[in-house]
Parts: sequence; C-alpha cells; structure tokens
Amino acid sequence: MKRALITGVTGQDGSYLAEFLLEKGYKVFGLRRRTSTPNYENAMKIRDRIEWVSGDLTDLASLIEAVRLSDPDEVYNLAAQSYVAASWPQPITTGHITALCVTNMLEAVRIAKPDARFYQASSSEMFGKVLEVPQKETTPFYPRSPYGVAKVYGHWITVNYRESFGMYACSGILFNHESPRRGLEFVTRKITDGVARIKLGLQAELRLGNIDALRDWGYAGDYIKAMWLMLQQEEPDDYVISTEETHSVKEFLETAFSFVGLDYRDYVVLDSRFVRPAEVDLLIGDCSKAKQKLGWKQEVSFSELVHMMVAEDIKRVRAEISY
Ligand code: GDP
Repeated sequence: MKRALITGVTGQDGSYLAEFLLEKGYKVFGLRRRTSTPNYENAMKIRDRIEWVSGDLTDLASLIEAVRLSDPDEVYNLAAQSYVAASWPQPITTGHITALCVTNMLEAVRIAKPDARFYQASSSEMFGKVLEVPQKETTPFYPRSPYGVAKVYGHWITVNYRESFGMYACSGILFNHESPRRGLEFVTRKITDGVARIKLGLQAELRLGNIDALRDWGYAGDYIKAMWLMLQQEEPDDYVISTEETHSVKEFLETAFSFVGLDYRDYVVLDSRFVRPAEVDLLIGDCSKAKQKLGWKQEVSFSELVHMMVAEDIKRVRAEISY
C-alpha cells in the first residue's frame, strides 16, 4: 500500500487529492496545524479516513517528525497563504509560508525520507505580467504580487533540491482551478455564492473589482490528477496544467447569472476596494507537455464548471435558509 503525506489537506486541492488517493488504495496522512477551531468543511469526506499528523510548516522539527511518522512514498506540498489579494497587506507572512516554508518541507523530506517523491504547488501567478502568450514551462516569470514572488521562490527551490540532491521533486505550474470548494474570497466562488444569494433573495448586489481580467480557469478535481501523474513518471520534471482557454471575469459573470435567468449588469457594482495594487491582466496556459508526457487532459469545461459551482451554491444557500 502506497503512502502519501499532504500539506494543506483541508483546502480545496488537498481534500480532492486525498479523496483521489484513498480511491487508489493509498494510505493518506494529512498534516494538521494546531488551531483552536479546526475547519473541516472541505475535508468532510476524508476526515475519518485519513491519518492526521500534527505539524506546522514554519516548524522544521515538526515536519521532520511528520515525515518520520508517515514514512511517505509521495509528499504533496499544497499548504500556503494562497490568496493573492491578502499578500499585499501581509507580505512577510506570505513570504514566510508560501516561499521559505517550501524549503522547510524539502529539508524535512531530505533529512527523514530522501527517496520520497515531492510535489510543489507552483502557480500561474508566477507569470504575472506575461512575457509570452500562451505561457508554458519555459516562459520567464514576472510576478505581480508578493504571493507571485513567493511562489517563484518555492518553484526554484524545488528545482534546486532536485538538481542539488537528486531528489524526485516536481513543480506543477497550475493555472487557476476552481470548484464548489474554492474559498469564498476568490472571484469565481464570490460570484457563484453571490448569484445564489441574489437568486434566493438574500443579497441585492455583488461588489467586484477588475472584471476585465482574463484567467484560464479549470476544475480542481481534474487538476489534482495531474499532480499525481507528475509523481508517477520515470524522471521528475515541471509541468504547466491549464485548459488552454482564457475567459474574462465578465464572461464568468454572464455565464453564472444567465444560469439562473438573471443579467449580471443589474446586480454587479464596481468597487475600488477590490482593485489590486498591481494586476495580472491575462493568463492562458499551454499544457502540451503535460498532455504529451503525462497523458493528462481536462474533463470539465468552463461552462460545466460555472454551472456546477452555481448549482452547488444554490443547494448550500437553500439549506442554510431552511435550517
Ligand atoms: P487569482 O488569479 O489567484 O488572483 O484569483 P482570484 O479569483 O482572487 O482573482 C482573479 C481575478 O479576478 C483577478 O484579476 C482579480 O483582480 C479579479 N477580481 C475582480 N473582482 C474581484 C473580487 O472582488 N475578488 C477577487 N478575489 N478577485 C476579483
């Protein structure tokens, strides 16, 4: 039975990945940071099916112990301060967790289980003010937020441990990926939650920032499969994972509101509080390497994704009302 250790297991990707690995017969260990009120909202399906190990990304000793205890074949490092907008008011925390702590995790693996395979969650935000369209593995980075800058460090330290110590370490450059489990502050989930609340009469308007931004949005449930595939190859490597399509926030709005028979222009209010100090205007990935070498492909389309998210939010908000 293969063993996997996941950091960030209570997040969107971590919870889908844990379900996927359990399905494959893995013994799954989830790193859990001590908090006074733990949040298992995303992890309901796995809560009693995985082994929880205590540890904190900022504390190397705890990570070494977690790796020793779990004795993993595969380590997925998904934990981070993952919200771009929060990285301006908290640039040091973001740098500490999202950048430096990748080294903590790599060190823990190098010290306690050097032949474990390691996955680092890199991000399309590293491309920022894009230097090439579409973006692929060889496109130079130009991050536009403290978050993007931190992810560039995490990316290169992973490459460096592979080259320095011969570790099987991969970096997955994943473009935006969403689902009904996406955090409510991200634009997609903010919109689908807003649509549900407006449709059910709980909210009158939806306040947003730059709705001209373009993103390559895929489904998280498809993307976690690519993480696993990266760790099943003969040689470790880095891969872009994307849908190869770009859509504006406006198009996301149109699709989500029209799903419930409404026009977004009647409800959306532009609010400068949600405009960022520096913006990533356009992201579109070229994932031909992943298609060819990993045999990976996206299964859920843009409109299926939007519909899935709106439908789930309507169900959830309805249940809240009747509760
Ligand atoms: P990101 O690509 O990781 O930053 O994902 P987000 O979902 O947070 O943001 C995607 C895009 O939506 C960015 O270009 C934001 O500037 C834009 N956007 C416009 N209005 C909002 C808003 O109210 N909240 C968020 N999170 N993003 C917004």
